[in-house]
Order: sequence, then C-alpha cells, then structure tokens
Amino acid sequence: MVSLTFYGGANEIGGNKILLEDKDARIYLDFGESFDFGTDYFYEYLQPRAANGLEVYFEFGLVPKVPCLYSKKMLERTGLKHKKPDIDAVFISHSHSDHVNHLRFLDESIPVYMGHGTHRLLEIYHKLYPQFCDIGEHENLHFFKSGEKIKVKHLVIEPIHVEHSIPGAYGFIVHTSKGPIVYTGDLRLHGPQSSMTQEFITKAAAAKPYLMLSEGTRMGDEEEHNESEADIEKKIGGIIEKSKGIVFAYFSMSNVDRFMSVYHAAMKNGRRLVIDPKFAYILDNLKDKIPGLPDVMTDPAILVYYRLAKSCTYDEKDYFIHERKFMPKMVTYKEVAEWQKGLVMHMSFNKLVELVYIQPHDADYIYSSSEHFLEGEENKEEREVLENWMKHFGVKFHKAHCSGHASAADIAEIVRKIKPQVLVPIHTQNAEAFKKLHADVRVPEAGKKMEV
Ligand SMILES: [Zn+2]
Ligand SMILES: [Zn+2]
Repeated sequence: MVSLTFYGGANEIGGNKILLEDKDARIYLDFGESFDFGTDYFYEYLQPRAANGLEVYFEFGLVPKVPCLYSKKMLERTGLKHKKPDIDAVFISHSHSDHVNHLRFLDESIPVYMGHGTHRLLEIYHKLYPQFCDIGEHENLHFFKSGEKIKVKHLVIEPIHVEHSIPGAYGFIVHTSKGPIVYTGDLRLHGPQSSMTQEFITKAAAAKPYLMLSEGTRMGDEEEHNESEADIEKKIGGIIEKSKGIVFAYFSMSNVDRFMSVYHAAMKNGRRLVIDPKFAYILDNLKDKIPGLPDVMTDPAILVYYRLAKSCTYDEKDYFIHERKFMPKMVTYKEVAEWQKGLVMHMSFNKLVELVYIQPHDADYIYSSSEHFLEGEENKEEREVLENWMKHFGVKFHKAHCSGHASAADIAEIVRKIKPQVLVPIHTQNAEAFKKLHADVRVPEAGKKMEV
C-alpha cells in the first residue's frame, strides 16, 4: 500500500512537506515552511529562536510532533525522545522557503537530495542572510541533475527540471510499487525556459502515472490575464523608454528571469543597470550555473551602488568582505544623482532612504514582484510608507509582473497531457477548482494520511 501524508501543502499555497510511504520506504517530498507559519503567535520582534530547538514550535503545533525525524539538538527540551530516524530521504524541488525552510530541524543523518542549482542558491542566501536562510547541518547531502534516476530502497526517483521564478527548480517522477507518482513542485509555462517544463510534461506523460500531485497556486483565477515574461520585458522597456528620469525597479533578487528582462529592457534603451553589492554577489556566484547571465565584473552596463556607510568615505572596511569584490564597479549617490536619465536602478523597500541622497527628478518606479504586497490588508502600513516616498519625490508608480506559477489554463493543459488516474491538488487554496479538470480528484487534508 502506498500512502501520502500532508504535513504541509494541503489547502494552502506553499509549505509543502509530504510524506510518501511505500512498503518499508519512506521519503519526504520537500520540507518547507508555510507562508503564514506562526503568524497566530508571533509578530514582528516576538519570534521563536529556531536554533534553540523545537519546544516553542511543538507548543503551538506549528511543526508536527513526529518521532524519528528531528535532530537530537532540536528535541532537547521537547519531551520527544531522540531516536534513530526512520526516513530514507528528503527530496527538495527548489530553494524557495516554502519548500526548504524546515530542513534545519531534521536529524543530520537523513539523506537530503536537491539540485546543484538549488544548493548553490541556498549557499548564497545563507551567506547574505544567515538569519533567514539556514538549512542546518546534513551529513548526507546529495546533488542531482535533471534526468538522473535515484534509487531509495525499491523506489526510483527521477528529478526533471521545470521552469519557475527561481533557477534550479524540479518536478519528480517517483516510481513506486503501485506505479509512478508525479510531483510537479512549483512550475510555469509562460517564461523563457518553458521548454524545461515541457520536457517534464512529456516525461511525466510517458511514465503513465497513476497519481499526480499538482500545484495549483493560481487555480480559481481563471479570469486572470496570463502575461508572459516576454510581455513583462516589453512593458518594462516601454516605461523606461517614456521615462524622463531615473527608473527604479523592484523585483526579487532570486528571480533571474526578471533580472534578465530588466537588464535587456535597460540595454535596449541605452541605460546602465545599477544594483547593490548583495545583488552583485548573487549574480557573480550564479554565473557559472546559468548560461547567458552577464558578468558583473566585466559588463560595462552593470554598476554597483555602495551606500554611504560608517566612515562616510567609502572605505572598504565599511562593507562586508563579500561585498568588497565589486568596488571597482562602484558608483555612489553622487554619480547616480548626476546620471539619472541614463540609469535603471534596483530599489528595494528597505533602501528607499537612498532617494534622499539621489534626489530623483521625473523618476519612475516599477514594482515588479508579487502583487500580494500591493493588495493585501496585512501589507497596508508598508504600502502606505512606499506611497509616501513616491509622493514626496514625485515618482511615478508602475506595476509590471507575471507569476512564477502556471495559470489555471496551463494547469488544465498539464493535467490533460500527463493524464494521471488520480489527481491530488497541493500548494493551492482552491483544490475544488481541480474537479473541473479531472474525474478522480482527491483533496488532501492537513496532517492526514491518504491511502492511494
Ligand atoms: Zn512554493
Ligand atoms: Zn516556489
């Protein structure tokens, strides 16, 4: 008998943590953290200390109290005795926190499998943001490539690359004693690497799976216009073309496709792109993994912005060691203020103070990230602060974004092509919408085991 237990990812977007059991084999598909993790009990500076252990998480039922899974250190004050783990492996689809963040709690000896790119990204983010990105210690970390076949007891797991809003994303075909189970991870079909998702669909269909775990982030948004990454590049290009001043753009630093769109749009309009040293560090450390990514150190169109720091003299000691490498490409607020019309500058919320030094005129700001920030009640205060800054400096505000997830229409197409016998919606708040796509949809319940 094969079973699936949903410790995360059931009727919620993200937090995937799915236990697959088949005879004596037990593996997890992802080990992430829900986006609303702990929000009922923690707020701003009231936060648990992950490094101390799981006691606070168990108290509120935030992490399942499952034996033979967590490390000795994490269990120290919890009342749950540390025992030899009974999990054979954890397979990670990609490096987003809702798929990896609870790896830090695992027993060190449990084998963890992830793509080469995923590991590189996690290393980069750990270096830059150790308090937010920490997967903990793992004695058996394995890296896979697309198309490899990994044996875990009698199971064979086949990772196949897919396109998502972060590089190094995979879906899996798990060959079980009952037949193949397909796990989509997070994917999309409307970006520049959609051929990877197409390859995943072809291989998954050829496996003739009896079950598919399908992401459904955008299910229920059937009306939503499905702009492609190419459309976004065009839109950004149009805004830059019309702008009479500096163009600020905000987008996630891990969204390499978006970086390329902004970079190309800037180039087409004869502008240079200004990024901060952290962004430069990310690009510099991904360039050997991602063909076509510009080299920060040699590309004359990329400039690196150093903010005024402690000494106010741009002394290298003012900056982290990993930020210093890019000093030959340095611009300061003085150059940016002078060259406004010739620049596109990456500008995140927490760097808005730089506007005081730059004193932009006729500037535009492109918000090119998840629109939840612009709509959600929970972001109201932050949004108002952003609006105040825009108003104060007379900056025109624009939106240009497309999702990292497949549209409802694309999910329908994926289901139709892969043709699983059973469809299990995950990573969605609209599991019911899947019933229009398939005759045998089984909706998972959080924490419950599903015999399949
Ligand atoms: Zn996700
Ligand atoms: Zn994701």
